[in-house]
Amino acid sequence: MVKSILAITMNPSVDISYPLKTLHLNTVNRVNDVAKTAGGKGLNVARVLHQLNSPVIASGVLGGTIGEFIEKQLDETGIRHEFMAIDQESRNCIAILHDDMQQTEILEKGPILNSNDETKFLVHFEKQLENIAVVTISGSLPEGLSKRLYAQMIEISSSKGIPVLLDSSGETLKASLTGDKKPFLIKPNQEEIAQLIQQPIKDLTHLKQILTDNQLFSGVEWIVVSLGADGALVKHGTQCYRLTIPKIDVVNPVGSGDSTVAGLASAISKKASDIEIMTTGMATGMLNTIEKQTGFINTNLFTEYYEKVLIKKI
Ligand code: ADP
Repeated sequence: MVKSILAITMNPSVDISYPLKTLHLNTVNRVNDVAKTAGGKGLNVARVLHQLNSPVIASGVLGGTIGEFIEKQLDETGIRHEFMAIDQESRNCIAILHDDMQQTEILEKGPILNSNDETKFLVHFEKQLENIAVVTISGSLPEGLSKRLYAQMIEISSSKGIPVLLDSSGETLKASLTGDKKPFLIKPNQEEIAQLIQQPIKDLTHLKQILTDNQLFSGVEWIVVSLGADGALVKHGTQCYRLTIPKIDVVNPVGSGDSTVAGLASAISKKASDIEIMTTGMATGMLNTIEKQTGFINTNLFTEYYEKVLIKKI
């Protein structure tokens, strides 16, 4: 039986987009063209994995009618899901697109959970690790859960020999890098690395030095620092690589990091070579930027974009 990838989103949302010519304050704005999609970084990862034909199970916590909406959308797309039900409503995140490319966002904080929910989720998670090749964990934690939750999930997965790809930031990322077991792969962007080590990054030579010297990163098998249009700087074991990509016409870069994580996870689950893993991650990241929809790629263009990625040892 082919093993699946378990894609975790702890604070999913329904992402609502309201396009308006002009946003009028302190009065009524009427909107015709509303789009509502299941959102959250891990759900973007799950969608792209599904498009890549990699078997995926979406998991995390969900509740209320918003939770039901998300499950229905996943059903319609044919994505398997096994979320833990909570007795609170999942969140809506609203993006108002107005006045010539301006974007005003209203993001609900989401449910407030507690240590009981946390214990229950860890049991739920451990049970899911049957027949799983790779775990991806993306995004932030709902309020009330320990910043060490991801670190605990990494410990459980590692004890079963399952690699974890972690795409998080701030305190949860730090706690996961100081835990007993390290994630197999992290995918911070440059800003997230600077925030983590609390110093600005001067240039790529400096970045390479940080990844090599800072103890936080020792023992992490793969560090993929994505650099937007500049590609990525990757450290695998002791070897560093510079990944470059061509200039492309970007439509919507939101979710490219998630799409990159999906590409990396897909290739890792197939035990692909190092070069294939890195190239796939860059190709799926780029493919997301040329689509309007977040966490969506046109797989027909995969080979074309795959061939555009250049990798150099540094
Ligand atoms: P994040 O969304 O996590 O900040 P990035 O913006 O670094 O991640 O994007 C992840 C990957 O998506 C990049 O490494 C690259 O492959 C692709 N990408 C992102 N922005 C662009 C862009 N403007 N042009 C081309 N590729 C891009």
